[in-house]
Amino acid sequence: MARFQENDLPKSKITASSLQKAILIFKYADNHKWKFYVGLVFLLLTSVTALAFPKFMGMLVDCVNKKDAHLANEIALGLGLVLLLQSLFSFFRLSLFVNFTENTLANVRLALYTNLVKLPMSFFSQKRVGELNSRISNDITQIQDTLTTTIAEFLRQFILIIGSFAMLASINIKLTIMMVSVVPLVGVAAVIFGRFIRKYSKKVQDQVAESQVVVEETMQGISIVKAFANEWYEITRYREKIKEVVKMAIKGGQFRGFFASFIIICLFGTIVAVVWYGVQLSIAGEITVGQLFTFILYSSYVGASSGGIAELYAQMQKAIGATERVFELLDETPEKINSNEHISINKIKGDVTFNNVAFSYPSRKEVKVLKDINFSASFGQKIAIVGPSGMGKSTIASLLLRFYDIESGEILIDGKNIYDYDLENLRGNMSIVPQDVILFGGTIKENIAYGKPEATDEEIILAAKQANAYVFIEGFPEKFETVVGERGVKLSGGQRQRIAIARALLKNPSILILDEATSSLDSESEKLVQEALEILMEGRTSIIIAHRLSTIRSADQILVLDNGKISEQGTHQELINLENGLYKNLSNLQFSNS
Ligand code: ADP
Repeated sequence: MARFQENDLPKSKITASSLQKAILIFKYADNHKWKFYVGLVFLLLTSVTALAFPKFMGMLVDCVNKKDAHLANEIALGLGLVLLLQSLFSFFRLSLFVNFTENTLANVRLALYTNLVKLPMSFFSQKRVGELNSRISNDITQIQDTLTTTIAEFLRQFILIIGSFAMLASINIKLTIMMVSVVPLVGVAAVIFGRFIRKYSKKVQDQVAESQVVVEETMQGISIVKAFANEWYEITRYREKIKEVVKMAIKGGQFRGFFASFIIICLFGTIVAVVWYGVQLSIAGEITVGQLFTFILYSSYVGASSGGIAELYAQMQKAIGATERVFELLDETPEKINSNEHISINKIKGDVTFNNVAFSYPSRKEVKVLKDINFSASFGQKIAIVGPSGMGKSTIASLLLRFYDIESGEILIDGKNIYDYDLENLRGNMSIVPQDVILFGGTIKENIAYGKPEATDEEIILAAKQANAYVFIEGFPEKFETVVGERGVKLSGGQRQRIAIARALLKNPSILILDEATSSLDSESEKLVQEALEILMEGRTSIIIAHRLSTIRSADQILVLDNGKISEQGTHQELINLENGLYKNLSNLQFSNS
């Protein structure tokens, strides 16, 4: 429910240093910068033509007194030309700004994404990914609006206000002073009042949403409501919420009523006052009727622009905040990964050693998940890690993949510290078949080829056959081209696992990490998965995170993890003979249950 609304974006103060930082966004414009500058020139031109408009209109009106129809024609033609120019300038200004912005933002988006996917796991384990996603998209939208319109509008309004004042002063100083003392004030007041009303109606909407939550909750848990005969309770709860909505909405209506009265009295009142004073001056012969007309038009520019500029300032504050957050993400240090398409992997053998490894998660430093882990696995062995859930079995796998940095001790592969390996090479030699296999939206073929993007069709088919996946894949009408994932076919847990096994087979890693599925598959599916796994494990070092003991009897070594340490270590036969051993207990428990 906690979706970010654009209105909720936090603002940042506009200071010299925050502006300087925000301007760094222009770095991403590459060779598109000129478009922004030329756009600015067109912006200046549109503002100048906008300023010419009232002047010509006044001259046109003055033709009445002069009874000069010919001059009126010429001025009207001139006005037509002004409008034509203005529309032309506006067109170029807008197209150029949009072109500049889209190109720049495409670069920003790509840079953000590139950095994001390369950030270490410690970053993702501390951030809520969904939130991050919606934040980024809102921040980018804010920057987009600002670059295309807000900056331009701000400058335009600014030029209009200054220009209008200059023109007003040139017509009549007394009238200008009179206007200055009221119009901008009313303009700003109207905006502030308007913003207050908008905020208030958002509150009312939130209240309505809250009352909707009551309905949703009740409907979802209707059987509970009925079982407890608590209909009256829910009705009371809803009635209270509704009452609050009505109270707030009525108050909101009154505010809107006030606003309407305010506009009528102040805004129109001001117009009456300025016109009245202008007419007085006109009667006294100080200004012509045309000048009065021009004056009123410029005054309306000032009123509208001073109101608009306050709103635009708030927009820019939000944009600065958005830019700061985008840069924060861009400044996060990524893992050392080249993003080249083809990397050559130096095959490692696959001897794994953990020496006195201790570790706690960066987000929960105080909890030592692993205290002192020691074991070694030589090439080709199957090592199973067992132990109660939450003891750190998956953590050991994450450390081997170098998702996190260990605190002390060392992890060696082929006798070399894993932190001395090139990260891509290290992970390139490993494969993981996770508990809950996530397939990417795309075809089955693409999903298998994820393990080796350049694989040929024959290799993919062979991998599918070895993974016991070929038969079910061929059973789909579109076979390997069947789309899976969110918008495609739903595969069963066992089928997804076999796809993951095919993916791992294709990659042909030296070290394999198997995170056994916790939810049990049906026995037929289980048999197929188990067969496929046996094939997969051949000729490599396998680390099996075991949730069920039945599947690991043949393991070369079983490590029993308890309280951050390995408490027992040996083959199934050795461990089962340990009196009062944890493994023996676990094993008794599991087999008596099944
Ligand atoms: P197992 O695989 O044995 O069930 P895990 O290795 O998943 O256990 O977890 C070990 C401990 O570390 C648990 O207490 C878990 O809550 C904690 N943990 C796991 N992942 C994270 C993480 N990303 N951040 C913080 N704590 C974590």
